[in-house]
Amino acid sequence: MHHLYLASMSPRRREILEKQNIQFDPLPLKVSEIPNENLNPLDQIRQISLQKLHAAQNEIKRLPAAKQPYVLLCADTEVVFCGKLLGKPKTPEDAMQTLQRLSGQTHEVTTVIALYESSQNETIEVAVTTMVHFSYLEDAEIKKYVQTGDPMDKAGSYGIQNVPRHFIKSIQGSLENVIGLPSAELLEIFKKQGWSFPKIHEKATPNAALRLLEVQKVIRQASEKVHRDPSWVSLVAVSKTQPVEKISELHAAGQSWFGENYVQEALPKIQFLREKNADVKWHFIGHLQTNKVKDAVGKFQLIHSVGSLELARKIDQQAPLRCHPDFVQDILLQVNLGEETTKSGFSLGEIETAFHEILEFKHILVRGLMAMPPLQNSPEENRVHFQTLRNLLHKLHGTPHPKAKNMIELSMGTSHDFHIAVEEGATIVRVGTSLFGERT
Ligand SMILES: *Cc1c(COP(=O)(O)O)cnc(C)c1O
Repeated sequence: MHHLYLASMSPRRREILEKQNIQFDPLPLKVSEIPNENLNPLDQIRQISLQKLHAAQNEIKRLPAAKQPYVLLCADTEVVFCGKLLGKPKTPEDAMQTLQRLSGQTHEVTTVIALYESSQNETIEVAVTTMVHFSYLEDAEIKKYVQTGDPMDKAGSYGIQNVPRHFIKSIQGSLENVIGLPSAELLEIFKKQGWSFPKIHEKATPNAALRLLEVQKVIRQASEKVHRDPSWVSLVAVSKTQPVEKISELHAAGQSWFGENYVQEALPKIQFLREKNADVKWHFIGHLQTNKVKDAVGKFQLIHSVGSLELARKIDQQAPLRCHPDFVQDILLQVNLGEETTKSGFSLGEIETAFHEILEFKHILVRGLMAMPPLQNSPEENRVHFQTLRNLLHKLHGTPHPKAKNMIELSMGTSHDFHIAVEEGATIVRVGTSLFGERT
């Protein structure tokens, strides 16, 4: 499975790819397209397209984490008339003149698609040409179209999808090619090369996307308040009781970590999204019964809720049996800060001894601590609990044991109080209601 980057500013190319149901990331690209008039038209277009590809390769190197392996897609579309590239108009008068020249005539539209594949370090280019026959046009109707402003960012001074229908007498070849990206030819290349891309499953609804943005904003603001880098805080979207459709929606909006409380509920969801090739990471945050451990190990990137030595021992035992002989399950130790009888977790009195025992387990790596403080009326009241957890993490991190250095994660804060948790050093917040709405 490859990841596709579309290096183009053209919304029309994006739409064409979206119609093909292919997932991609747009890569904004600004290159000045100056054709070399010493070359023939096709070579001029090829050169521009390759220049774009080159700029995009540089751009992608600057991304903090490009998804590998990837395919970079660039394209240049030009209108060729009487052996010359017409280019984009500089002024409305320019557009007017170009369209007067095209009136009643036949011209060519050529797109050169340039592709780069990262694992083979391979570049591919393909040219596609369409013949377009214009009707005879009255100056008045040309003027009216030019006044819409549509020609100004388009090679040849027109957008075939926007001109009045009767402007175009007929075309020979691909219509999408004239718009900017011939999808049939593109898919053919993908197939020939054996490249496949994740599909777009569901579109994010504005609601899910807006809620996600809002939660991200709270994380950012709380971080800035205490001069923390917001990228130190990871968001786990708590999806217990939520249907897969809602998870897909939030995933489409850009969320990739999801937290579940019940193994039985989680497994079919994990399966469903895996079949859709969604790149989702699952976290287990609920009370884990020892008889469910065998179904949970290896399925979750992180088990947050290890609150007893017995549970840790069971995970250590099942991990190599269920996964592979060297498998190591990442976990957090849950701390029962309020010493509440209704909640699981190590008490502050017992956690240090337990931690030392768990450090010796081969198939477990303890990454940090998790807590679910007592429910308070005001989020401020939990600040002291978050501070306690942070101090405890520092203490355990300082333990003279080689594995103690892995103690860096603090999973704390829910919809009610994650802003306070971030201020107090949370590296993972677990947010359900603020992302999905009230649970039914
Ligand atoms: C449900 C749950 C959450 C999320 O709670 P919200 O109030 O919906 O944000 C977080 N952590 C754990 C352990 C949970 O069970």
